[in-house]
Amino acid sequence: MHRRPALLINTAHIELWPGGLLRARGNADARALARAHWVLRRKRDGRYLAVATAHGVLPLVPRLMREPGIEAALDALETQWHCRGRPEADDAELPPSGLAQRLAQLGLDADAYAADTGLALEAEPAQLSLAGRDRYRRPLWLRRAAARGWQRLQRAAALDGVALDAISGYRSHAYQLGIFERKRARGLAVADILTVNAAPGYSEHHSGDALDIGTPGEPPAEESFEQTAAFAWLQDNAGRFGFALSYPRDNPHGIVYEPWHWRWRPGAG
Ligand SMILES: [Zn+2]
Repeated sequence: MHRRPALLINTAHIELWPGGLLRARGNADARALARAHWVLRRKRDGRYLAVATAHGVLPLVPRLMREPGIEAALDALETQWHCRGRPEADDAELPPSGLAQRLAQLGLDADAYAADTGLALEAEPAQLSLAGRDRYRRPLWLRRAAARGWQRLQRAAALDGVALDAISGYRSHAYQLGIFERKRARGLAVADILTVNAAPGYSEHHSGDALDIGTPGEPPAEESFEQTAAFAWLQDNAGRFGFALSYPRDNPHGIVYEPWHWRWRPGAG
């Protein structure tokens, strides 16, 4: 049977996940997820809001229709239902929403931050493609072309005897803010978090074109990755598959050296 590649449909506040990919968090969830064609998931905290089954939409929270962004999510669901998963243009992006408020929550001014770091605002894609699983067996989402590029690159490395795995791919603006909130709750200052994490809206992971690459047996996202045969292989070959290192040593963005972070660049390689 011909199967379409799995798609993640993105709206401002809610993601639509294809059925069969999310883990149940309780018995009620498990029964609903087993029948789900789509799962509506709140971006801010990952909460499952509803499932779409062959028989209609089944809410998993009280007052579903009062959820922010629910109308847009249901519209997107309707479109998917009728288009039978026909992919949108690969470059369709969401307009940034609520970004200034998110940054203000962290005491940051968007223009000043962008000027200081030279980082660009990274829009979220309107849809993402499943690019396999990451090291932790979680679904790995990337924009369609980047997903294909990553799978080709990983296969080519394997043929050369080099095992590569993905640590992390697409992340939403809301998810990035959640990282800051969790770290602040542990007592870290925003300025300190910013040396390691880009501000919400400015991480390349939002674009769906960037991913963190590792190799089995090595800790994730450590500078020691630079010493591995996997990194040497990437340096020699990643460009052929359209991937380039984003944050080399002494980069102008004030971001620490990240030998694990690679971005697919249209036209590169
Ligand atoms: Zn990264």
